[in-house]
Amino acid sequence: MASTRPRDPYEVLGVSRDAGDAEIKKAFRRLARELHPDVNKHDPGAEEKFKEAAEAYEILSDAERRATYDRYGHDGLRSGGFSPNFEGFGSITDLFDAFFGSAFGAAARSGPMQGGDIAVTAQVTLEQAAAGAEIELSFEAIDACERCHGNGAEPGTPIVTCDRCGGAGVLQAVSRSPFGQVMRQVPCDVCGGDGRIAEQPCSRCDGRGREVRRRTLRVDVPAGIADGQRIRLSGRGHAGERGGPPGDLYVLVDVAPDDRFVRDGDDLVTALDVPAPLAALGTTLRAPSLDGEVDVEIEPGTQPGTIVTVSGKGMPRLRRPGRSGNLRVVVNVVIPRKLDKEQRRLAQELADSMTEDNLRVEESLFGKLKRLLG
Ligand SMILES: [Zn+2]
Ligand SMILES: [Zn+2]
Repeated sequence: MASTRPRDPYEVLGVSRDAGDAEIKKAFRRLARELHPDVNKHDPGAEEKFKEAAEAYEILSDAERRATYDRYGHDGLRSGGFSPNFEGFGSITDLFDAFFGSAFGAAARSGPMQGGDIAVTAQVTLEQAAAGAEIELSFEAIDACERCHGNGAEPGTPIVTCDRCGGAGVLQAVSRSPFGQVMRQVPCDVCGGDGRIAEQPCSRCDGRGREVRRRTLRVDVPAGIADGQRIRLSGRGHAGERGGPPGDLYVLVDVAPDDRFVRDGDDLVTALDVPAPLAALGTTLRAPSLDGEVDVEIEPGTQPGTIVTVSGKGMPRLRRPGRSGNLRVVVNVVIPRKLDKEQRRLAQELADSMTEDNLRVEESLFGKLKRLLG
């Protein structure tokens, strides 16, 4: 563990010092969701931030640790033997799963528990992002067991009151700390907090009531979505425990690069080669757009780097039907690299006939450089 001074856990989670358990949990879930590596792979600091949030949550979600911290600060926790136990986790994903997967359930108190969230990446083409698309996603998720429908009992066998906790779902535990003995409630290790157990555990899930299954789901990607945007599908995450609601599914949209266009907000930008003589004479050329080629007017005397705007041919605006960005065509004036004998003669003749008047521009050096360097 780094020896830098740890931050105040209340500050890390953004909660007040008298925040209740539900508020602390909510704050941690929100932070953790923001920092999930699948959602946030562009932020190299996300892993450290997640660990910091997890450590803050470990302190504040445990009444005993929280009381120790409130009275004695981080030093009190350290001398009490607390150290965040993240070393055993291979990656931030494991760590995340430990908090939101089944381990999360075991660590918390009994009662209905919301399922964890899932993050899935969906790759789409630029055309799909423009037109909107229905795509099929396939991912692993925790679902209620198919055989026992989640109650953990072999079908046809009874569910009985747990002997160990007498149906309360919790046990009283005494733990010693440097500040004296502390009584606290821990989830029953036999029934996991249910208070009831299957007399004969389900043969498919060993009584857990949940199992990991591959799910396929069709997802509507709205027209105009941009790379890195997220679609939230409420209730499509991991199944809840003990009757709790399911978590949410976050679809991270990854728009594949396109070799014809670069996207700039709602605009698309493309480059169009224009032979130098045509740039001088003016012409109409065809440029690519997302719905077929479009005419682009090249004015006589068009200079390298000139941008011709074709309105309405960019990306549609997200959730604003009928509104679109523009297509910006950057003119790339191409100077002929080779000339045959006759062309040389014509070019020479043209060059010889040039006067000051042909080349005069009303443009400052700064203006020229700005145009050329884009
Ligand atoms: Zn089962
Ligand atoms: Zn029990």
